Amino acid sequence: MQQRTADVVVVGAGFSGLYALHRMRELGYTATLVEAGDDVGGTWYWNRYPGCRVDTESLDYSYSFSEELQAEWKWTERYAGQPEIHSYLRHVATRFDLWSDIELNTRIDSATWDDTEQRWQLRSTDGRTWDATNCILATGFLSVPLQPRFDGLSNFNGTVLRSTEWPEDGFDFTGKRVGIIGTGSTGVQMMPIIAKNAGRTTVFQRTPAYSVPLRNVPLEAEFDAHVKSMYPEWRRLQRESGAGAWSVGSAPWLDRGAPSAMDVTEQERLDLYEECWQLGGINGFYMAYGDLASNLDSNETLAEFLREKIRERIGNPEVADKLVPQFPVMTKRLCADTGYFEAYRLETVDLVDVNGKTLKFDESGIEVDGEHYDLDVAVVATGFDAVTGAMTRLNIVGQNGETLQSHWSEEYRNAAGFMSAGFPNLFWINGPGSPAADSNPVLMAEDQMGVIGDLIDNSRVVGEPVAVTAEMEDEWLQTCDSAFAATLRSEAKSWYNGGNVPGKVTRGMMYHGGDIPYLQHLAAYEAQILDQTASTPVSSAAEMTA
Ligand code: NAP
Repeated sequence: MQQRTADVVVVGAGFSGLYALHRMRELGYTATLVEAGDDVGGTWYWNRYPGCRVDTESLDYSYSFSEELQAEWKWTERYAGQPEIHSYLRHVATRFDLWSDIELNTRIDSATWDDTEQRWQLRSTDGRTWDATNCILATGFLSVPLQPRFDGLSNFNGTVLRSTEWPEDGFDFTGKRVGIIGTGSTGVQMMPIIAKNAGRTTVFQRTPAYSVPLRNVPLEAEFDAHVKSMYPEWRRLQRESGAGAWSVGSAPWLDRGAPSAMDVTEQERLDLYEECWQLGGINGFYMAYGDLASNLDSNETLAEFLREKIRERIGNPEVADKLVPQFPVMTKRLCADTGYFEAYRLETVDLVDVNGKTLKFDESGIEVDGEHYDLDVAVVATGFDAVTGAMTRLNIVGQNGETLQSHWSEEYRNAAGFMSAGFPNLFWINGPGSPAADSNPVLMAEDQMGVIGDLIDNSRVVGEPVAVTAEMEDEWLQTCDSAFAATLRSEAKSWYNGGNVPGKVTRGMMYHGGDIPYLQHLAAYEAQILDQTASTPVSSAAEMTA
């Protein structure tokens, strides 16, 4: 089979990968984007379960690199659903003429650095090969599904549906007895929709979720026009404040949120939380006070507010007792739902607590603690091997035969969240060491690609690969560790810290210090990398944060 040659191979055709391909071509490089799925979209291609939609506002969760694209695309809802986001990404691929450089149905299973040729050799599972100067991993931070090995699952005679591999034509739940395993963002989105038609819905819950109403509505033409009339300014505000489009000019926390929830009276706190609640979505709560995610006392004020709201939504105190979380809020990502807790009021919905218990499948359903639940369908929504999972599965071999798996066996060594030492010209977007989950990943992809583009340009001029050092990694790990230690995120087992994956090293994997500090660090690391080489082109990261 003929080997393909390119300046850049990008792996993964989601938001980050499509932009990476566009940017590389814009800079004049030959680039190929390889994608395992049979369409572009990444997470928005694979996750087609009922109710799948974004919890960042559509007007924010979209590219900012093209004013024309921003002006011409019309979102229909405040929070777009999966089909619409998927259409948007297909539109982008067409609008920027990307299809000719995209190879679908292509799963990469190894990438090896050739130190003599100073190039990456990539191979797909079906034996095709690529030879590239640079490799950009846009493999997603929530893309490798966790597939717990449930006892007896293969004996189950009913249908097993996984949230990440949903049938393209959907699934008719009418009258069926459905079991749902998993009550994270995915589970809480799908449950009320499934429960509407199912004959009986049984939720098998290990840990209850903090979830707030999304309050999704159609996007009104005037509002759309208003944001579009100030889009460049809005994007600036968005990057600086983290606020969502819905709150343009009226975000309750922008002028009222204090550094600490303990700095205000209880009434002031409750008023602000109530405003965020009424506004809908998760954004307001993340922004309300500066120390909600870091100070246990402050955190408890919001946790208690949300527990009370959950009780009100459920009604029945006995059921509510099982559904009210007791761990610090936001140590697992806050969920947003449409009618999740209200659905437990339906006579056809049951909740089974499986925490610390063994969940066993048999031919006709699930057994927990000697109690049997007859099922026609089991829906599995058990989350992801997040942040590092997609990259460590790729069999990446860098200098001196070192694998990325071994490089990351104890800690996720990286510099500024986009490269590791010993893996020259290998970059990643929204991966370990970057803010990923804490930022808007669409904008972060654009910002990281600004730096990656600069460095590749410089490398072409000076004729040396882009590389970071072990010292840079040490320094960045320390920065990430102290930012993580300042949060409460070690208080719960979650995909934030790897604790949701049996056997995974449990520690902070991302940078938890905020987007603006991250971009400043990124610019500083870019400058340091450029300093190591002879030529110094313009730094877009430095421009971005100036
Ligand atoms: P998740 O938050 O990790 O939730 C997985 C759920 O499965 C948890 O309730 C977990 O319980 C449960 N679980 C895992 N293994 C289990 C087992 N062996 N037995 C019983 N229960 C088990 O995953 P997710 O819901 O897919 O969401 C992941 C992230 O994706 C979100 O935090 C969010 O960032 C993103 N997302 C966003 C949206 C959105 O609204 N836009 C929608 C979906 C996903 P434990 O908590 O006890 O581990």
